[in-house]
Amino acid sequence: MAAVHDNVVDAIGGTPLFRLARLGAGLGAPVYAKAEFLSIGGSVKDRAALSMVLAAEREGLLRPGGTIIEATSGNTGIGLAIVGRQRGYRVIAGVSDRSAAEKSDILRAYGAEVVTAATALPREDPAHLFNVVERLAAEIPGAWLANQYDNPANPDAHVRTTGPEIWEQTGGRITHFVAGVGTGGTISGTGGYLKQVSGGAVTVVGADPQSSLYGGGDGSPYFVESIGHFLHPETVEDRWPQAYREDVVDAFERVPDRESLLTARQLARTEGLLAGPSSGAAVAAALRVARRLGPDDLVVVLLPDSGRSYLSKVHSDDWMRQWGFLEEPGAETVRSLLD
Ligand code: PMP
Repeated sequence: MAAVHDNVVDAIGGTPLFRLARLGAGLGAPVYAKAEFLSIGGSVKDRAALSMVLAAEREGLLRPGGTIIEATSGNTGIGLAIVGRQRGYRVIAGVSDRSAAEKSDILRAYGAEVVTAATALPREDPAHLFNVVERLAAEIPGAWLANQYDNPANPDAHVRTTGPEIWEQTGGRITHFVAGVGTGGTISGTGGYLKQVSGGAVTVVGADPQSSLYGGGDGSPYFVESIGHFLHPETVEDRWPQAYREDVVDAFERVPDRESLLTARQLARTEGLLAGPSSGAAVAAALRVARRLGPDDLVVVLLPDSGRSYLSKVHSDDWMRQWGFLEEPGAETVRSLLD
């Protein structure tokens, strides 16, 4: 029997785990994928959004009639829009002027207000998106800035929900957890919980774009969106987000864009899981890990969002060709890349 809910917010979390029977065939250890794109808002960020809103209410930062503000064009904005509107708040999403129009459209569809500002400016420029958003939060009475990068309720969502779900779904047999690192909330919360509950028996692997700073890259830009840390020419952040716990991550797999993007495409074609590019990076990393392991090991990889948001990018042959990712005949076979 499928669940019946009184409110969509009650349906956040509880996502299924799928064995990657084809992509994972013949590797040392089985690989299972946690399908966060099946969440009500379409991504893993629904969990963080709910957790941050409830924490802000508990702490008295958000009261009836209040306004939720965040600089986000993506999944966190959708999560905050759904949770925020359901709980009666006004929701304002600050979106980069470089962001695709569809991203603002979906936020408005969920009832959020969209404020656009520039991001290709020095961080201290008053017109920079982050400063515009901070100013709005200071000026609007009852406004609360979610600040997912430094908000402890972001990783805490995964300590309380994602981690326990994976532990239970694998019957405690998980030995390796693989995820991308954006704010770090997912990997720190889920990985931290799994380490604690297993008495340190779970290895946590970060899937990082090859040039990202998290895994030791040079900080140059890359194509895979929403994960990693790169040096914006004008905006040099000199610290990690507080949502990221460096001590939880045992190792990084540094994945080139091409391998991430081709893996996202293979995931849809061979497993029927239409996911985004950060899922491609995570699965590519998980396959690398699994081929080094044995039958007593079990790998879980987290798929953060749906491929439907990237139909004109990674899932478009034209886009892939335009950027040279499909240029070699037969390059579609990820396993041939790995072998
Ligand atoms: N992938 C996608 C598609 C995301 O939206 C995010 C969140 N920015 C991540 C991965 C990374 O998750 P986290 O912020 O929890 O590290």
